[in-house]
Amino acid sequence: MSAQEKVQDQEKNYDQGFSADVSRLLDIVANALYTNHDIFLRELISNAADACDRLRYDAITNPDLTKDNPDFRICTYKDTTNRTVTVVDNGIGMDDAELAENLGTIAKSGTAALMEQLKASKSETGDKLKLIGQFGVGFYAGFMVAHKIEVVSRKAGSDKIFTWESDGASGFIVREASEIEAARLDGARGTAITLYIKDEACEFLIDKKIEDTVKLYSDHIEVPIYLGAPAMVSQDSGAEPLNNSAALWMRSPSEITDEEYTNFYTHIGQTIDEPIMTSHWHAEGKIDFTSLLFIPTLRPWDLFDPSRKRFVKLYIRRVFITDDLEGLMYPWLRFVRGIIDSEDLPLNISRETLQYNPVVEKIRSAVARKILSDLDKLSRNDEPAFITFWGQFGAAIKEGLYDAAEHQAAILKICRFYSTHDNGDKLVSLEQYVERMKDGQDKIYYLSGENLENVKNSPQLEGFRSRDIEVLYFTDTIDDFWLQSVLDYKGHKFQSITRGDVDFDKFDDDKADAESSDKTKEKQEKASPDVSALITSMQDILKDKVHNVRKSKRLKDSAVCLVAPDEAVDMHMERVLKVNQKYNANTKPVLEINPSHPLIIKLSKKAENKEDIKDLAFLLLDQAHIIQGNELENPSEFARRMSDIMKNIL
Ligand code: ADP
Ligand code: MG
Repeated sequence: MSAQEKVQDQEKNYDQGFSADVSRLLDIVANALYTNHDIFLRELISNAADACDRLRYDAITNPDLTKDNPDFRICTYKDTTNRTVTVVDNGIGMDDAELAENLGTIAKSGTAALMEQLKASKSETGDKLKLIGQFGVGFYAGFMVAHKIEVVSRKAGSDKIFTWESDGASGFIVREASEIEAARLDGARGTAITLYIKDEACEFLIDKKIEDTVKLYSDHIEVPIYLGAPAMVSQDSGAEPLNNSAALWMRSPSEITDEEYTNFYTHIGQTIDEPIMTSHWHAEGKIDFTSLLFIPTLRPWDLFDPSRKRFVKLYIRRVFITDDLEGLMYPWLRFVRGIIDSEDLPLNISRETLQYNPVVEKIRSAVARKILSDLDKLSRNDEPAFITFWGQFGAAIKEGLYDAAEHQAAILKICRFYSTHDNGDKLVSLEQYVERMKDGQDKIYYLSGENLENVKNSPQLEGFRSRDIEVLYFTDTIDDFWLQSVLDYKGHKFQSITRGDVDFDKFDDDKADAESSDKTKEKQEKASPDVSALITSMQDILKDKVHNVRKSKRLKDSAVCLVAPDEAVDMHMERVLKVNQKYNANTKPVLEINPSHPLIIKLSKKAENKEDIKDLAFLLLDQAHIIQGNELENPSEFARRMSDIMKNIL
């Protein structure tokens, strides 16, 4: 039975228990949140402002809804006799079913996410508090300071008034409002929320405390907020709003403090972490709009969930339109929160058709350009902040490399990777990579794999390390995909070091010249005896398993490694594709052997006698697969060969 059916099912009183999630949340709110009580007011005012925004939008197509009073406002006041604090708005209001549904179950995505995380977290209150801090608890924050809450509401356009009432523990009741309760409303619509204040929160029964709290958290709210009951702050009373009440984003950035920005971010983003970057921009010219966008410090839990809600609100000339417009932001910027206020879009257009409006497309592109350039600035002005950002959102942004060709260059500019330089501990940009390229190097070398530890230990790196040629580590799954559409960076092609042959000669020649003469050549020849007979034998033994066997230039300490043939897909890429079931070709790898490795040298002396080296050849191939992180095709054969050999050396 839905909440609505439950409500209608009953006669006059609508007794109902909270949904299990709400009970849990309320328990935590009541018992664990000792600090920072005052955020309850921020949450209630934020809801009241949303309710005004929603009615303002509905009134565009149905002006009758606000004809009694087109001016929106929020009033808040205390009553010391009854020990209550009330927040009243003349926004959209709720009917009985909505009261039960919105305030009796957890509908909003953020709180549902919070509950998931709380379930997952076994730890004690401290951590839970931090989690709650991240998400905010919305309406239920009221129960931090109240032992009972009454919500009286009249939906705009309806003549019925209902009261929702709860002690925040057992459950709630929805009933028709009494006359006294109905009198709390501001005119013929909206909501009045009355909190019966707990003794330990009695500071909120002082006007000054209410005033300070509103100013602290809600100054940026565009709806005017008054101190006093609606009847007391009538038009001619001369009362001034507590808040600034001009849309924050319309003010000049130079007049806005960090604190104001952060408070606005908290309101709009429904979180209380701090933004790591704030981007406030009045765009003028072909299209006019203002954007105030934030990048969070913390990665949202559902960043890679395709059904993730969008967090950028669209306004048209200060009227809130929607917070869920597909196409307003690129999917790879889905972590950005904030508002965009357009001067060009028509107001009387349905939310559904907005998506296809060419102005929206232009805004999307301009905003992306702005964010990317601000991020580039951040990387230069505040590197630690940028690195934090990259760790949280880099993988998402890289999706843009194949999703939005026009922004490719700007994205590549801010991309950071770990590399063989500095032992893989520092992120480097492509620009830095190119600056460090060796004489004669024209390609950007990379190694892709599951994780940093894995790739750092790859034998394929040995030859590059010994020649001091930098190799980038690509460890995000997405890396293998964008490489398909990004051909080069400033003319330098990307080259996987586990694919094809590497032309080391041009680097080695340089060295030889410098050291001058035959000595080096002699050394080299001594170090790498002829392995061509061994190669022929191994090739024959392993012909069903490998593309071919060849002498390696990239190995120094290891005996063998695998690489993909020139024309084939890179090995890690092939694995990724297989996992995603988009690919089932089984490319045979190239087995490279290290001619100066003692094992290979010994082996090459027995190369003629194929039967003798057969098991060893297979073992070497299996070993190369293991290093690569591949599954062995035939583990029991591997074990048999291994034990045979062990037996022989005992
Ligand atoms: P959120 O605001 O994140 O959706 P809340 O817990 O703050 O979550 O509020 C839950 C829901 O209750 C809101 O989404 C809204 O539908 C409804 N609501 C709360 N306060 C009001 C109000 N003053 N007027 C109209 N609806 C409200
Ligand atoms: Mg809310």
